[in-house]
Amino acid sequence: MDQVTEIREKLDIVTFIADFLPLKKAGRNFKTNCPFHNEKTPSLVISPERQIWHCFGCGKGGDVYTFLMEYENMEFPEALRSLAKRAGVTLKESSFKQGEYSEKENIFSVNNHALKFYHYVLTELPAGKEALAYLLQKRKINKGIIDTFQLGFAPSSGNALSNYLLKKKSYKNRDLISAGVSLERGSQCYDFFRGRIIFPLFDHRGNVTGFSGRALNDNDQPKYLNTRETAVYHKGSMFFGLNTAKDEIKQKQDAIIVEGEFDAIALYMEGIKNAVAIKGTALTENQVALLSRFTPKVTLCLDQDNAGFEATRRSLEVLEKKGMTTSIIVIKDGKDPDEALKKNPSGFKKALRESLGVYDYLVDKFVAENNKDSAQGKKAIADNLLPLFANISNEIIKEHYLKKLSSIFEISLESLLKEVEKLKKKDLEDKIAIPQKDKRARREVLEEYLIALIVQSSNPQKALEDNQESLTLYQFATPSLGKLLENLKTFLKTSAELNQEKFAKLLSKELVQSFDTCFLFPLPKLEADKYIEEIQKVIKELLTLFIKERVNFITAEIKIKEKNKDHNTEGLRAELSKLITSLPKR
Ligand code: ZN
Repeated sequence: MDQVTEIREKLDIVTFIADFLPLKKAGRNFKTNCPFHNEKTPSLVISPERQIWHCFGCGKGGDVYTFLMEYENMEFPEALRSLAKRAGVTLKESSFKQGEYSEKENIFSVNNHALKFYHYVLTELPAGKEALAYLLQKRKINKGIIDTFQLGFAPSSGNALSNYLLKKKSYKNRDLISAGVSLERGSQCYDFFRGRIIFPLFDHRGNVTGFSGRALNDNDQPKYLNTRETAVYHKGSMFFGLNTAKDEIKQKQDAIIVEGEFDAIALYMEGIKNAVAIKGTALTENQVALLSRFTPKVTLCLDQDNAGFEATRRSLEVLEKKGMTTSIIVIKDGKDPDEALKKNPSGFKKALRESLGVYDYLVDKFVAENNKDSAQGKKAIADNLLPLFANISNEIIKEHYLKKLSSIFEISLESLLKEVEKLKKKDLEDKIAIPQKDKRARREVLEEYLIALIVQSSNPQKALEDNQESLTLYQFATPSLGKLLENLKTFLKTSAELNQEKFAKLLSKELVQSFDTCFLFPLPKLEADKYIEEIQKVIKELLTLFIKERVNFITAEIKIKEKNKDHNTEGLRAELSKLITSLPKR
């Protein structure tokens, strides 16, 4: 047995996935909401018997390796090393070349050396003196915090880091370029960050994905410069501080969202360790998906200006889509959390304790800004609030806020509900219609359902025997399913039971996939006699569809032949009459 298989067999896929997602038992399988597409009812199925997973929503699936690769955005070598460790298997040279690292792992390693270099420059070298003084004195950040967040300084000289990585660490130019730490001019490498304080950006697993560099001199533009897109750094998919905050976020079941690095650090220094910085204007879908792995709730603490309010509004939309609960901290003593904490730390902590549900905050805000007693004022308040309320996914919460507004306005709940309905309609009209239905033809969908019914039945051998005649007549529109059925017939001739393991071993790779999909296909709950009826019903419909298609085809063929004065149509006519007599009765 090769080591890839050995590791797969040592790990149980259900236990493994349960470490990442909450699983629910569903018959002989487990179910969960798919993390790879947006959904509210679970369509990701995990089979303990087959040791596989499959999502019937987005079509992704596979084994432990593919799950880890998808979930953690890893490439195969990294996933293999990680799973080997978990399974307690030491990888042999022969099964895996030690020198074989993925591009992503290579970037992490370059970034890790760059991080150490920047940190050393800041804390130990004269070149970092001015930056260190800025952090310690002007920003009041202490040495311990500088170490915790691994802050650094990129010297202004132009190629100090590049030279260090090329000469001392033996990297090649292309390693530095693909990690984004250097730029290439001719055959020379130059540092991407120069004269900047460096905030390393870690993913939640502790890998350095990139950096954010703040100009030391306030007049230098841009004030903040981020690593450009690389294989591991994607703008809008990560947070500053998540690796230090994630345990606290899990424990508190709340993540505080701030805008900048200095805000997150300021909160940390005050003992509030569940804060992360978005490093952009508003939360993105990717960021919310990442956060939802650790907490169902977030507390927004964005800047107190118009841009900050717009960011709150846009973030709310994305958070609501994922069904997250949202609170908000209203900062009173400064433009951002960093300033507010420095001016009045206890005031900030009080605001944190008294954080408002985001919708209460919005109601208060718009009611305060408008005259609720005038018709114009009411309209202004409603125009701002109703689109937000219309988006609330939980009906109870939605009604709660509509009631609140109706009592403030002294207007009936019904008229507010009518306005919300209007908005929903308009929203639907604005969006381009995406066909939600299965794009495959009816026959293809039914064929998959039929094979699922057969392979999951308590007596597949009988299911085949009972329907032998119809199944011989029928020709599959999906060739792989037709082949799968032929294999099933052969296998069940010698064995009454469908041993999925033995059976799968006999199949080609392509057919194993079709088999797995059918094996995991979520079937409706049916009593034994209804189950048999269901199979017959599906076969009948398939056969009818097939015969009608075939009859149309043959009729057209005959017409063409006759038009061309070709009178050799006897064979076709014979098939036609045979088909018509085989048409299942209604
Ligand atoms: Zn999915």
